[in-house]
Amino acid sequence: GSTIGVLGGGQLGRMMTLAGTNLGYRFVTLDPTPSSPCGQVAEQIVARYNDQEAARRLAECSDVITYEFENVDAEVAELLEEMSYVPQGSQLLYTTQHRLREKRAVEAAGATVAPYAEIGSEQQLREAVARLGIPSVLKTATGGYDGKGQWVIRSEAEIGPAYAELSQAGTELVLEQFIPFVKEVSVIAARSPRGEIRTFPVAENIHVDNILHASIVPARIDEEVQREAERLAARIAESMGAVGLLAVEMFLTGDGRIYVNELAPRPHNSGHYTMEACTTSQFEQHVRAVCNLPLGDTKLLTPVVMANVLGEHIEAVTEAVATGKWGSLDPDSSVSSKVVPKVHLYGKAGSAPKRKMGHVNMLCSDVQEGIDFIHQSTIWRNQLI
Ligand code: ATP
Ligand code: MG
Ligand code: MG
Repeated sequence: GSTIGVLGGGQLGRMMTLAGTNLGYRFVTLDPTPSSPCGQVAEQIVARYNDQEAARRLAECSDVITYEFENVDAEVAELLEEMSYVPQGSQLLYTTQHRLREKRAVEAAGATVAPYAEIGSEQQLREAVARLGIPSVLKTATGGYDGKGQWVIRSEAEIGPAYAELSQAGTELVLEQFIPFVKEVSVIAARSPRGEIRTFPVAENIHVDNILHASIVPARIDEEVQREAERLAARIAESMGAVGLLAVEMFLTGDGRIYVNELAPRPHNSGHYTMEACTTSQFEQHVRAVCNLPLGDTKLLTPVVMANVLGEHIEAVTEAVATGKWGSLDPDSSVSSKVVPKVHLYGKAGSAPKRKMGHVNMLCSDVQEGIDFIHQSTIWRNQLI
């Protein structure tokens, strides 16, 4: 079989490896942390991501190279493209590494983004806030995640402090109009080099403290809006000539409009539900796409609610695995007997609050059962859904 090289050894690389191993591929990952989540199930080169010598070694032993995060060094991306086969190319990374370039690509595909302005000075920020209104959201153009690198400007008095703080990052800044969305959803599209495109069912995403808490599928929105969201994701993947997975985060407003928030050119946390709930998981689909295999069917086999297992949940989930008791949930209660919780833990060495340690896919016959399961379990107690 062929060998797939994965830049990055986190949980996304691990689940990609587990899925691709079942298709007969071998995996090598490059990550600085010894025995990384991916390194536990694949061969690992232990080195920094931008170590060119290590990237060269990865290229030498791989037939195909992919990545599990988008902040790949431009030089490393070019070097890998020269030395090996990187079907996703470096253009997709270049575009999605930078919010302004990404927004332009989304607009070029005919999709809508929140009105925005490029910010290069505090004066420009004042003018843009006057134009886009309060509240609006100031974001660093590169490097942000989990809501880090952004500031919701809620009064004119915050303009100075917001600029002072975010301009320290040394990247360009973007101001976005605040979208008063009623739901956040995402669609994961897959495209192969031969141009085949498939989308997964829309996930309804619940965030707590800017970190994904749960995904609900089917999303509790109009079927027509679901179809439109899937069409948009496919159109963006097509227009960008993306290869592999492209996750598209969107906001839905009360009047049925869809705004694209951001993209990720890789498996996405909001697609973890596919592991048991769809005919093909997002990880298998990614491997199929980068290897130019026919894409798998994306049909939803069952309603599902995915809940993330963060550092503060891991002990209780480990206990539930050992005992079968899901917190305060009575194992004989009607809600626990209706839900099938499928546990995925990532084998991370150190646990810390908010760190993603695993996830649980609650398979159910109606999403409300999965939601009730989370509500009634003390593991995720006090978290909104
Ligand atoms: P991720 O961890 O998903 O990569 P991120 O740090 O890149 O997150 P965004 O997805 O841009 O950040 O924003 C984080 C969250 O902040 C969004 O999921 C949404 O809840 C809120 N948000 C961001 N931009 C806007 C906006 N323009 N209007 C309203 N809410 C917003
Ligand atoms: Mg992001
Ligand atoms: Mg986001």
